[in-house]
Parts: sequence; C-alpha cells; structure tokens
Amino acid sequence: MTETEIPEDHPRYASLLTRHRIEAGVEKGITSKQGLIAQGRGEAFDYLLGERTLPSADAAERAAAATLLRANHPVLSVNGNVAALAPGETVELAEAVGADIEVNLFNHTDERVRRIADHLREHGADDVKGLAADGDIPGLDHARGTVDADGIEAADVVVVPLEDGDRAEALDAMGKTEIVIDLNPGSRSPRTADIPIIDNLIRAVPNVTAHARDLADASSAARRDAIDSFAADAALADAEATIREGAFATPDDEIPGEETPGDTPPR
Ligand code: ATP
Repeated sequence: MTETEIPEDHPRYASLLTRHRIEAGVEKGITSKQGLIAQGRGEAFDYLLGERTLPSADAAERAAAATLLRANHPVLSVNGNVAALAPGETVELAEAVGADIEVNLFNHTDERVRRIADHLREHGADDVKGLAADGDIPGLDHARGTVDADGIEAADVVVVPLEDGDRAEALDAMGKTEIVIDLNPGSRSPRTADIPIIDNLIRAVPNVTAHARDLADASSAARRDAIDSFAADAALADAEATIREGAFATPDDEIPGEETPGDTPPR
C-alpha cells in the first residue's frame, strides 16, 4: 500500500500513515531497524494517551516555540525516525524559528547521514548539518557523541526528538536548553529536558510551528509568558496521570456485577 492508498476516513489513519512512513524509511536506508522498535514503543504510549495532544503538551509546544524564537543559535536534531516521519514538517519549523537542521544519529555512519540529508533536501531543506562531524558531546563515545562544531556543539537551544537518555543527559551537562519530544513521560530524555513535549512527533512539530508563527507577531510579554507559565514537572505529571487513569476508561465504565462506590448504601 502506498501512502496515498491509505483511506483517510480509516479510524486508524494516522497510525497507518506513521507505520507506512517508518517502513518506507527503513526501505530507503534512512531509518534503522532499531527505529522500528522505537516506533512500536511510541505507538503504545500514544494509545494510552488517547492519541491526542494533551493541553499540557500544547503548553509545552507553545513554550518550545517561544524558546526557539528567543534563541541565538537553535538547532533541530534529526534522526532516522524523525526524517521518515516528519521531514517536511521539520523543514517548516526550522524556517519558522530560524533554526539549523542537523542530522544526529545514535550510531553515526556517514552513509546514513548523507541519505537523511538528501531526503531532507528533497523536502525543502537548504542546508543540512551533520556531515562535518568535527565536534563532540563530551562524555560519550565517538559513535554516539559526534556532532558538528558549528551545529549542535555551538547551539544554545536544541530540539531533540526521540532522543536516547544518555545523550539527552550529556547535552544537558553541556548547558544546552533542551526541548525533547517523546511520548513516554517516564523516559530519561523528557525527564532531563527543560521543555519535555509528551506528544507524537507528527502532531508536535507542526503545532510548535503554528505557535511560533503566532508568537512571532505577538508581544515580547506574550512570548515570555509562554515560557514562564510552563512547568516541566507538572506537564510530565499530567501525562503520567493521564496514562494511569487509563485512556480506555470512561467515567461511566463499570465492571458488570461489581459494586461501585456510588452503589453502596450508607451504613
Ligand atoms: P531512555 O534511555 O531515555 O529511557 P529509551 O530507551 O526509551 O530512552 P528508545 O528506546 O530509543 O529510548 O525509544 C525512543 C523513544 O521515542 C521512546 O520513549 C518512544 O516512546 C519515543 N517515540 C517513538 N516514536 C515516537 C513518536 N512518533 N513521537 C514521539 N515519541 C516517540
């Protein structure tokens, strides 16, 4: 099935589209097989969150937009899953906030970086960093810590979607302001982030762009407020509570034959 053959009225359209893009990414040599596993884990959390952007995630996306607009040197980090799922959306975000795009892989190979860079250019990117590989993230081995000296190494704000926990911690230790997009609120990466966005990448990236366009014309007080009113701990706790309460349960759900507290007569 090609992307255009997925019926748009299918109840699981977004999920099917996502799977299709990841599969195509693997076939094109831009997404690793490990990326398929990461996708599966993400889908499970998305299901539990109700496959929607929580209001707390929307607030994180607005804070992220304001932070990117205020940054001196923002960089969007792109790995194989991001390139497969949201290449055009990533290019649009970079344009909206004036950020660089850098291909940054868990296991760096020049070949895969080149393929991803070509794929991003096919989706409108002018300049893609990641091939110079002349910088490093201190504390990580060479394969995982290689970055561009004038890209992520020099950035003040980095957006790292679907990032591995070790690298998120190492970037934090470098003093970067980190914006992490990850559907698992218990994962180390969003827990390390200044701004954790607990949302699906395919919803989060366009929404950060929409907020950035809105905030670009807003007052500096409105931009400051978007940042100051956001609390990372509260956003993580909100996503976790949503999962614990159960995305399947509705307030009227009852287990047949079981007493609910409301049915118990006062003694
Ligand atoms: P950590 O070391 O931080 O615990 P991890 O081992 O959970 O990281 P990976 O196994 O590399 O990291 O998983 C990638 C992460 O990306 C998972 O937490 C998963 O929920 C998340 N993820 C996968 N697909 C998406 C998506 N489309 N949007 C947002 N997050 C996603």
